[in-house]
Amino acid sequence: MFYVFVADSGEMTLSPLIDDKHLAEEAEVLRPGLPLSFAQSLLGEIDEQRQGSGRGGVWPLWGGYSRERGEDKKRDGAWVKRAMLRTLKGYPGLRDQNWRWEKGNSPETSWQNELKDNLGSITDKERVGDFLARTEGRLLAKADLQRLGQECRLSYPEILNLCHEQVGKGDAQWIPAVTRIGKGWRCERCGETKVEEWISIYGPAATCPACTALGAVSSLHELYRSGAPFQTMFSPSTESDHLSYSSFSDCGNMAWEFSPRWELSPAQKLAAQQVLEFVKEGAGERGVIQGRNVEKEVLLWAACGAGKTEVCFPATAWALEQGKKVLFAAPRQDVVLDVAPRLQGDFPGLKLSVLTGTSQERFTPAPFVLATTHQILRFYQAFDLIFLDEMDAFPYYGSTALAWGMERALRTGGKRVYLTATPSRESLEKVKAGRMELIRLAARHHGKAVPLPQWRKIGGSMAPEHGCSGEQGEKVLQWLKELALWGPVLLFVPKISWVNPWVEILKKEFPQWSISGSYSADPNRTEKIAALREGRFRIFVCTSILERGVTLPNAQIMVLEADHGVFDERALVQMAGRVGRTRENPTGNAFFLSRQKSAAIAKAIYWIKEQNELAFAQGLIDN
Ligand SMILES: [Zn+2]
Repeated sequence: MFYVFVADSGEMTLSPLIDDKHLAEEAEVLRPGLPLSFAQSLLGEIDEQRQGSGRGGVWPLWGGYSRERGEDKKRDGAWVKRAMLRTLKGYPGLRDQNWRWEKGNSPETSWQNELKDNLGSITDKERVGDFLARTEGRLLAKADLQRLGQECRLSYPEILNLCHEQVGKGDAQWIPAVTRIGKGWRCERCGETKVEEWISIYGPAATCPACTALGAVSSLHELYRSGAPFQTMFSPSTESDHLSYSSFSDCGNMAWEFSPRWELSPAQKLAAQQVLEFVKEGAGERGVIQGRNVEKEVLLWAACGAGKTEVCFPATAWALEQGKKVLFAAPRQDVVLDVAPRLQGDFPGLKLSVLTGTSQERFTPAPFVLATTHQILRFYQAFDLIFLDEMDAFPYYGSTALAWGMERALRTGGKRVYLTATPSRESLEKVKAGRMELIRLAARHHGKAVPLPQWRKIGGSMAPEHGCSGEQGEKVLQWLKELALWGPVLLFVPKISWVNPWVEILKKEFPQWSISGSYSADPNRTEKIAALREGRFRIFVCTSILERGVTLPNAQIMVLEADHGVFDERALVQMAGRVGRTRENPTGNAFFLSRQKSAAIAKAIYWIKEQNELAFAQGLIDN
């Protein structure tokens, strides 16, 4: 809730604090409070009435609404207060509310007096500095601010006070979480415009359905947006006033070093050097150097299992040395938890903030943030360098949220690196159009080619009900048998409902082998996959859940109905990419089985072939 303060001069101001210490002495406050969006439009409406039609429009969100308009005689507080009550009573849902003007520091607001006693303690430099470091570059809803309070051991009113102080200084803003854009709406956190509209007592309102994973927000909620006050930290102007509390480097200056524990492969070295050059080029500039555009995005297109994460480390080390802030975002929590110890190992002493849906610490200030991708929506102009891993596996892939979040979280002059083994059509188009650079990491660390998948024609449906009968069933079983002699087989099927029937069929056919299967909703999924990793199954039937992120020594793969619509070229490349990943077993087989060679199958095979040819041309592989 926000409170409208009106001074005798007619000056109108909004504050989330019912007796804002800057206002309460001279101004009266309207009770009860109002949602920010409504309060803003109310002030706009009053301003328009005061100015007569044709004047309204844009006015500053904060500070006096009428400070410079002293010539109007309707400016006095009594008129404004009357006009406001009259306007409020014009809203059917608000007519019967007990609207009243009160002195801000009336006894009713006694909790505020208590707060005032506490204010002495929160003005202490250390705690304010702590608050600033934790909120730098953040976009926070009420629930986030409450959590922040718990972490800083401050009450919610104290947090509000600190936030509002930053707003007053111009270093942060309060914004409605969902705002009016023309006739529509837009979520300010995720950029979604397809919102759920409803009628509130304040008139039409909208809730964002897209980012509810971070806590639902509507046009009646507000967000606190800290506009990176330390953006100038690369230049040596550390003495400006808002830096007097603390600067970000206070928490990043701890001694750390970059000492990679293993050597990069020749392919990784080549790509790492290119990423470093990209990050260095025009760093901190605003897009144009010597009349030439400097691209702010690069696509790092890596072969499956080529070790793309480590390729980012040299550029990361350089950026951190420059005092820049770096984010590594990955779509899944298990990837984040897998990368964290690798980073910690290669950057001993570096302070790392790990943000996943389940992590407790949410506001630890650190120069390097490692997060699940949707956490990016909680940042605002926070990073100079963003690595986004597997963008095509982002849960919001195809929605506006990712692009929106990436744009918002990056500081002016910042750079983004997209890491993937299977680039999206959009990103390839961007590369083609020259709007994004491309770096290839074409070879695996063991210097062997990625095994080329083979397409094998099958006459009819491979649905389990007629899976094993007749000639085609014989073929499938025969090929499976061949593969299983090489190593454990991952058998991919297009539908969840096929998993268990196929497990039963294969158990009957191959009673001597241990066979199992799983899918996303399988309650025993975690245990089964752990057993799979231990090499306890000869054949494992699964949907695309195992498409990414699994390294199984000597794995072989077979895809049934590979021409099915769920298997696009990216999925097929990822599945084929499970084969030959380890130094001990760099080869293997991937069979795509289907009635026809779909465009996706052809493309997947072409991608891998082209990649191997490139790696060979670069002298990175020997066959
Ligand atoms: Zn949203």
